Amino acid sequence: PSQLLLYCRPGFERDLGVEIASRLAQTSYQGDVITEPSAGYVIFAVRNSESINALHRELSLDSLIFARQSLAALPLLTELPRDNRLESVIEQVVSSGWSFEDVWQETPDTNEGKALSGLTKALSRPLMANLKKCGALRRKAGRRRLHLFWTSGDSVQLGMSFPGNRSEHPAGILRLRSPRNAPSRSTLKLEEAWHVFIPREQWVSRLSQGMQAADLGAAPGGWTWQLVRQGMFVHAVDNGPMDRALMASGQVEHWRADGFSWQPPQRLDWLVCDIVDKPMRVVNMVERWLLKRWCREAIFNLKLPMKQRYEEVARCLTRLTESLEEARIRAEIQCRQLYHDREEVTVHVRLLDV
Ligand code: SAM
Repeated sequence: PSQLLLYCRPGFERDLGVEIASRLAQTSYQGDVITEPSAGYVIFAVRNSESINALHRELSLDSLIFARQSLAALPLLTELPRDNRLESVIEQVVSSGWSFEDVWQETPDTNEGKALSGLTKALSRPLMANLKKCGALRRKAGRRRLHLFWTSGDSVQLGMSFPGNRSEHPAGILRLRSPRNAPSRSTLKLEEAWHVFIPREQWVSRLSQGMQAADLGAAPGGWTWQLVRQGMFVHAVDNGPMDRALMASGQVEHWRADGFSWQPPQRLDWLVCDIVDKPMRVVNMVERWLLKRWCREAIFNLKLPMKQRYEEVARCLTRLTESLEEARIRAEIQCRQLYHDREEVTVHVRLLDV
């Protein structure tokens, strides 16, 4: 493979492109970042014929902000004949020498992409049969997965994903069911953040009963609802009204106050914040919490109404990293644009020495 194929939220191609380019600047790889507005994906093609596998590992999906999925890919196949779309696909698989245990057909997260679902369904059986026949689809193949990414009815790009460095969700999208009694739909942002940032087996110890949390900009209470569901006690800070049923849980104290200056009555376990304000202002506030060790973990959103979204996020993360380093506070910092995030990204910080 000589390309990286990265999926993203449509409209964020430029941001992912700039992110890839800035990460590439720290490597010896040379090539072209190819972006098309609203396409829902970005390609990086190496200029010389180097294999891209090492770079694919180095730019791990976990370390990328705007990518939903990351594949080592072959050049795009175009102008596939309507009556025999699979022939070139099988040829490309055979000449690449790839073998894999699993095959997924995917499309960009766009209306054009959704319109291709009938096609991928129809191709599924003959595709599997042909891949088995040529020996590429095998029962034991290191859990590698072949992805057919259809960008139109006659063009498809083949990519490979590897366990440990990929999203395990089709199209890189974690679909969550909206809880019936949650006060707002944005409740899913916090739930998705936990799925993405906290390994499932650690939920018991890191999201447990009896913990104390602060939710800044809490109203009407979608995030607070998630914390309460985990058995936590929540200080909900917002001048706006909180959901009545949620308050009736007895696990929430509502503070009508400014989230940027509010101080917790004692040290807490969690800080979450969904206030719409300047990203750097939010980061400065969270930084104060961490330096004072008012919480052990934090999840907060950075709203990005500006044009240069990647640059803004990078500035914020650099600032946070440097201040923690200066104070000699060891922390793990992760940042992703989640599926339920629109013009925003979600940051997770975990202090390591507490
Ligand atoms: N996470 C909430 C949920 O799931 O229901 C939604 C939060 S909403 C996007 C942002 C909230 O921040 C609003 O309720 C607004 O009143 C509040 N807000 C804005 N500025 C604030 C500030 N300086 N201090 C506290 N809350 C603030």
